[in-house]
Amino acid sequence: MIEIQDIKKSPLAENSVIAQMTLHNHEQVVFCNDNATGLKAIIAIHNTILGPSLGGTRMWPYKSEVEALTDVLRLSRGMTYKSSLAGLNLGGGKAVIIGDAATQKNEALMRRFGKFINSLAGKYITAEDVGINTKDMEYIKMETNFVSGLPVNMGGSGDPSSVTAYGVYLSMKASAKEKWGNDSLSGKKVLVQGIGHVGEGLVINLIKEGAHVFINDINEERLKIVAQETGASVVSSDKLFDLDIDIYAPCALGGTVNTDSLNRLKCSIICGAANNQLADENIHGKMVMDKDILYAPDYVVNAGGIINVYYELEGYSRERALSHAEKIYDTTLNIFKVSKEQNIPTYLAANRLAEKRISDISKVKLGF
Ligand code: NAD
Repeated sequence: MIEIQDIKKSPLAENSVIAQMTLHNHEQVVFCNDNATGLKAIIAIHNTILGPSLGGTRMWPYKSEVEALTDVLRLSRGMTYKSSLAGLNLGGGKAVIIGDAATQKNEALMRRFGKFINSLAGKYITAEDVGINTKDMEYIKMETNFVSGLPVNMGGSGDPSSVTAYGVYLSMKASAKEKWGNDSLSGKKVLVQGIGHVGEGLVINLIKEGAHVFINDINEERLKIVAQETGASVVSSDKLFDLDIDIYAPCALGGTVNTDSLNRLKCSIICGAANNQLADENIHGKMVMDKDILYAPDYVVNAGGIINVYYELEGYSRERALSHAEKIYDTTLNIFKVSKEQNIPTYLAANRLAEKRISDISKVKLGF
């Protein structure tokens, strides 16, 4: 159902907004403008078959409207896939505010944006993303209840990072089972790049299990603290991809699985929290497969965050969120199974499974 339409058949100009929406079957795109506050924003709703679309708001000084539109279309589609495979009753959406978060944010702008979200009557639910902080969420919340991922003191579920880290750890164990026949990580050499909120939680879980953990971060202070607290070994950035390791866990930035790193990496598994790890899905998804590296698709691995946010909407219970996050283990194994059966890269297997759930649920007709 999320088939790519043949855009050439469309009577619309190739670069029109609707033509771009047609490409990946986006449902609705809302352009928001308010001269009084200076707000310029785009809300993209990719798919609502499974439930209301949910995804964070990003504030970024996009160089052009086209750049902002491209980003919000790509990100909202990613949310559809992530929630689908996590087994959530959520669709995919995302919003971008065009502007500099450091200088152009204020209460009026955020509240005006909140009013736009409210006008969608729950079809889009927002959360924090790059450039948006707790204070901004407080302002948005003054104008709409369609927000999630709020801090505990605002009645929300708080920082989801520990649930995300737990999901990454379970996905890594599932990857080990697939690769080596049992899921123990004891004695395995794991490189964790980025020891922020998620990376540190992952390191703690790995050390507890007896893995030999290498850590890397551009923040020297954090490196020192985490190494002291956990006993992990510090690796400098220039040696990163030349280490002799079993597992590479990207937990900092996207795009680190690229031609250069893959030509150097000596590992059997890639499994980490960062979004968009493959620099180019088509090229590097295939390249990991050809190199016999098992790649656990990022949006499956890091779904603990969205799972946590979902349970905030349901009336938050950390136990239920953690219990749901445990399903990431089986989902990861299922992706590997489909990848082997169909002889396709794992990212493609994940996409197909996500699409299948949406297609199946679209056939459900509720009745008495
Ligand atoms: P964070 O900002 O707390 O940590 C990121 C860490 O990476 C920081 O310590 C930073 O210094 C380090 N870093 C940045 N650039 C680096 C580089 N070039 N080399 C090495 N280290 C570098 O972020 P986080 O919340 O831990 O999230 C980590 C990743 O996981 C991000 O890509 C995020 O989008 C993704 N993610 C996080 C969650 C969540 O629940 N927090 C959920 C889903 C996905």
